[in-house]
Amino acid sequence: ARTFFIGGNFKMNGSVESIKAIVDGLNAANLDGVNEVVIAPPALYLLDVVRNAKAPVQVAAQNSYSEASGAYTGEIAPQQLHDAGVPWVILGHSERRSLFGDSDKVVADKVKAALAAGLKVIACIGETLEERETGVTNQVCQRQLEAIAAVLEDKDWKDIVVAYEPVWAIGTGKVATVQQAQDVHADTRAWLAKRVSPAVAEATRIIYGGSVNGKNCGELGGAVDIDGFLVGGASLKPEFIEICKTHK
Ligand code: 13P
Repeated sequence: ARTFFIGGNFKMNGSVESIKAIVDGLNAANLDGVNEVVIAPPALYLLDVVRNAKAPVQVAAQNSYSEASGAYTGEIAPQQLHDAGVPWVILGHSERRSLFGDSDKVVADKVKAALAAGLKVIACIGETLEERETGVTNQVCQRQLEAIAAVLEDKDWKDIVVAYEPVWAIGTGKVATVQQAQDVHADTRAWLAKRVSPAVAEATRIIYGGSVNGKNCGELGGAVDIDGFLVGGASLKPEFIEICKTHK
């Protein structure tokens, strides 16, 4: 069975005080440790969260660079995240792709570098509304995943969580229906079985992101191929604790 995985992507939100309050809340929430819970604050606050978060809450960065060190002003190396005690990184988020020019190739290079540095990766894929409406959802998701698969060996997949985040559902309040999400997750798993191996397809968590909240998490989490969530807006709210307690 795949361990249910809940990620909280704070994006560029929060302050020293508000992020401390979220972590204190999670620490006090008696999460039973059945689900894997990983929160991703802005880089500036990572060290605070590494120090304050108690098991089972883990920490992720929202991005990292593809080089280990050097003249790359403004970037953070995956080795630096590892050094600072950050075990996870989110890569290929649609906001990175659309606003900051992270192409499939850039994302793949970053994934490769992150794994080489000993990080685990939440790798994001997902189609735009136009792509969904023109019927190329699977093509787009599989193209994005192929770029990543091409730089991985089979053994690397144990450190990858795939996040399916349809762009039209992110921050819009327009959540995918359970069937829409389940269909893409099942197709992605079938693609993994063919492209990598049936064992990797069976073991890899495929989580859903896009307007997940305390009300819809139960139904979404019930779908056979939905192995958790990547939560944006609701991860900043008290309801995140309820989402973290979703039971399969
Ligand atoms: P929302 O939950 O705010 O729609 O964001 C989803 C997301 O992008 C998580 O990475």
